[in-house]
Amino acid sequence: MGDYCQGSRRERSTVPFAITAPICDSAAVTLLQPEIQATPPYLNLQNMAQRSDTDLLREIRSFLQYHESLGITEYPLRQALQSFLAEQKKPTPPPVPGGTRKAEQGKTAATGKHQFDPGLTGKVTLQDVENEIGDCHRCSLHKTRSSIVFGQGPVDAKLMIVTDAPAFDDDRLQAPVQGAPGELLDKMLAAIGLAREDVYITSLVKCYPGKNKAPAPDEITTCLPFLFRQIEIVCPRVVCTMGALASQTLLRSSRSLFQLRGRFANFNDLCSSRLEEKIVLMPSLPPSLLLENTELKKASWHDLQLIRKKLPAQ
Ligand code: SF4
Repeated sequence: MGDYCQGSRRERSTVPFAITAPICDSAAVTLLQPEIQATPPYLNLQNMAQRSDTDLLREIRSFLQYHESLGITEYPLRQALQSFLAEQKKPTPPPVPGGTRKAEQGKTAATGKHQFDPGLTGKVTLQDVENEIGDCHRCSLHKTRSSIVFGQGPVDAKLMIVTDAPAFDDDRLQAPVQGAPGELLDKMLAAIGLAREDVYITSLVKCYPGKNKAPAPDEITTCLPFLFRQIEIVCPRVVCTMGALASQTLLRSSRSLFQLRGRFANFNDLCSSRLEEKIVLMPSLPPSLLLENTELKKASWHDLQLIRKKLPAQ
């Protein structure tokens, strides 16, 4: 696992991420206020009896607010959490084996399919597609970018990583996943025996949307045909979406990233066009999120191991 999964100061959290049971029931949600935490809070489940109810509620509210802002709505039902819930007389519904994630993913596959742009089928190479994009002004993201970050990696890559959008450093350096997230991504890949040069990396939209801004639905829709054509041309065994928007868009789902991640979907079933090979899609967590929340590395490591098993032996 190398440096990527080594312990750190923040990994002391007693709530590692693995989704098995809902906790954010309506009573808990009423504690939430719309404000977003600037600094990730820490919930200490130890020594609860020694703290006042007010302090405890404040701490829980802060923690839930932060996770709610990330789209987390479920927590593992570990012993400490069970004890806490029993004390608070807020029983949680029993976990559903297989979870609702399975039903949701099945539903998305059945209710709609991605339409590939027939105008791009004549673009045979990645360079053709990049040329077609040109100095693109098709959506308003051209106003916030300084460069178009098309993608990087070998055309025969077996793994394709799709992030939500280029970050500031990516825009400046004209390459995907640079800076500290890029260094972490390299470690994550090394942990499963891959180098960045083995992987094709691109994003849902090709232009930087601005600081702390996410691309709007119409911007995603406008840029999506280019990603689909990249997927068709590279035809990887595995597409790993690292981000909520990329995962929700490619899976045609409105569920949070934390509900979607960690499970393969059959990408071919989600597409109207016939892909030459079977491609599976694994939603997972972006390196930028892991840098801020090191306790989530465990979940990311789980996803990477599943991906490794789907790839041909080196
Ligand atoms: S995000 Fe895509 S569609 Fe929008 S301007 Fe950039 S390349 Fe063009």
